[in-house]
Amino acid sequence: MDNYILVTGGAGYIGSHMTLALQAAGERPLVIDDLSAGLRRAVPEGVPLFEGSVGDSDFVGDIMDRHPIAAIIHFAASVVVPESVAQPLAYYRNNTANARTLIDCAVQRRIPHVVFSSTAAVYGEPDRNPIGEDQPTQPINPYGRSKLMVEWMLGDVARAHPLSYAALRYFNVAGADPDGRAGQSSPNATHLIKIAVQAALGKRDGLDVFGTDYPTADGSCIRDYVHVADLVAAHLDALRYLRAGHPSVTCNIGYASGYSVLQVIEVVKRVSGVDFPVRLQGRRAGDPAALVAANERAKTLLGWTPRYDDLETIVRHALAWERRLGA
Ligand code: UDP
Repeated sequence: MDNYILVTGGAGYIGSHMTLALQAAGERPLVIDDLSAGLRRAVPEGVPLFEGSVGDSDFVGDIMDRHPIAAIIHFAASVVVPESVAQPLAYYRNNTANARTLIDCAVQRRIPHVVFSSTAAVYGEPDRNPIGEDQPTQPINPYGRSKLMVEWMLGDVARAHPLSYAALRYFNVAGADPDGRAGQSSPNATHLIKIAVQAALGKRDGLDVFGTDYPTADGSCIRDYVHVADLVAAHLDALRYLRAGHPSVTCNIGYASGYSVLQVIEVVKRVSGVDFPVRLQGRRAGDPAALVAANERAKTLLGWTPRYDDLETIVRHALAWERRLGA
């Protein structure tokens, strides 16, 4: 294959796994990242890295003019729900406005396909779980709204221009490369499994549970944790699907199994063998009680076949990466 796959946010947690998977699949990844959360060393040897914002149309347009692009996989975004509540305009700029610029550059150059990182947060507080893609989208935080607006934009663009897209609604991405080549490296990460493995390794003084009065069996929030390796595999499946000429698609990526925050903590304690301190706190802003994916569409349409659908495996790989990162 001659053309590049443009990976925005390719120096970040999920993006770094994506470039490895693209290389393994014989594709040529090219990374744009502003390194605000990503790390230069997370981009594999031989993969071009352009440092800058996808919201800078001159910068993006120039890269596209000099490199033939077969498809864009757009990860670059801010992803912390409570931060989006505190700084909504930052989220609407980074996640929504910058995506508009990127898509505009793509349309101008007739780049045919976009795979977009969407989120389960577009569903808000769902009426029922597991959530099907056709259930109403009614996000309850700026993060979810900032992503849903991009889905709408892509829908309109695909109707008006020769572009097809896959919007993948990620549930809770966790774990690390099974071969130990990549993982979640950000020291400021806020996501539960990352925090819990850091607590297990003594990198932080225990863990706070945000809310124990939700309408769930143990009162803590339920999420569907999906292994990052399975998540990036879904992007390869989506690329193949779009290149085969299929129409645009929106798919959940999750395992259809939910775990509460307290259950996750128990698994991390068991797998690590460390009984770290856990403090029960009040609710965090913007959290729905339960989010579990229905995933038949990804399996049927994209041919997605999860390989690491097991919370212990996710935690084991997250722990191995956290150890490798050192103190
Ligand atoms: N959570 C928690 N303590 C933490 C981090 C997260 O209790 O230190 C909870 C959070 O309130 C939510 C769940 O874990 O109910 C998953 O949160 P996370 O930030 O990992 O992902 P999100 O679902 O917000 O994308």
